[in-house]
Amino acid sequence: MTYLDANATEPLRPCAAEAMTEAACIVGNPSSIHTAGRAARALLENARETIARALGADPLNCIFTSGGTEANALALHALGVGRRFLVGRTEHDAVRQSVPTQAPLEWLDVDQNGQIRLDLLEQSLAQPGALPAFVCLMFANNETGVLHPMAEIVRLCRHYGAHLHVDAVQAVGRVELSLLEQHFDSLACSGHKIGGPKGAGALLIQNTTHTSFTPLFVGGGQEQGRRGGTPALPSIVGFAAALQDALQHPVAYESLRHRLEQAARSLGAVICGEKAPRLGNTSCLALPGQKAQTQLMRLDLEGICVSAGSACSSGKVTISHVLEAMGLGDLAGQAIRVSLPWNVTEADIEQFIQTYTRLVAISTKTP
Ligand code: PLP
Repeated sequence: MTYLDANATEPLRPCAAEAMTEAACIVGNPSSIHTAGRAARALLENARETIARALGADPLNCIFTSGGTEANALALHALGVGRRFLVGRTEHDAVRQSVPTQAPLEWLDVDQNGQIRLDLLEQSLAQPGALPAFVCLMFANNETGVLHPMAEIVRLCRHYGAHLHVDAVQAVGRVELSLLEQHFDSLACSGHKIGGPKGAGALLIQNTTHTSFTPLFVGGGQEQGRRGGTPALPSIVGFAAALQDALQHPVAYESLRHRLEQAARSLGAVICGEKAPRLGNTSCLALPGQKAQTQLMRLDLEGICVSAGSACSSGKVTISHVLEAMGLGDLAGQAIRVSLPWNVTEADIEQFIQTYTRLVAISTKTP
């Protein structure tokens, strides 16, 4: 099997598996005050320190969650009270579906490269007499890898007193940290997208001027009353180990991706978002006239795992709202996403190219 679907989930890093196994043997609950509880608490706080410091936040403002979806939902629910929501059209459903139902909502358009229209963002922010804004923009898009111009976005949000929530689920561990630091009021991240286990994520808050925080659930008051429930210690510890490993061993994805895209282009594929700065590991390839689902199935039959458009949890492939927002028309239903994991090899890329070439040859005979 050739696994090129990192943006769905990354293979578990050995160091994360090791850290999780050790943590799973700790019997205590981090909330218990006896020796076993304190041992668990020490591991939890150590992981919190690692993750928060790496991303430029105070550990006191790092709240562990079950993953990126919950971290996003918690941010919008807990920090967005009394604000109007300005949400990018290409956001992940974890954000799009989490805007509180009664809250005023405005969608922010992107250009044909998938980057936010800064002129329209400023227009929305500058509306006289409007409620304070809660802006939701992802750092890197999960389908195309396209990066929004964050420095400009931060400047505008600061200028107009807006809260900037950044979904950095695909960016953490894959972009230089200096690009993330200081670039958010709140930030969502997830362990399994960087080679950690599934089931752990975090919401980081930088702007501590918030006086109120409305938790999604309270339970036993864990995470300083901001997220009830016993934390998933092994997953959290694995997340911290994976993040450290990702930062210490950055992968030079670009040359591999370049080779892949060159080959795809020569076969007639369109690279979506090609003109914008992108994550090095992500390539969104649209094949004119060929349904994404058919491409996906043919590749799967040949042992290649990739994704198509926005594959929802039922496995059904829908037209990509991201590519539609970029104005790609029919291509929005004809694109597959190839995303390289931390352990990708040159042989994986060659395997993909050979198979894709065969697929294109078959497709042009039988659309
Ligand atoms: N945000 C983005 C950009 C994502 O790509 C994903 C998952 O694909 C999520 C949020 C949700 O993260 P999780 O799977 O950890 O809930």
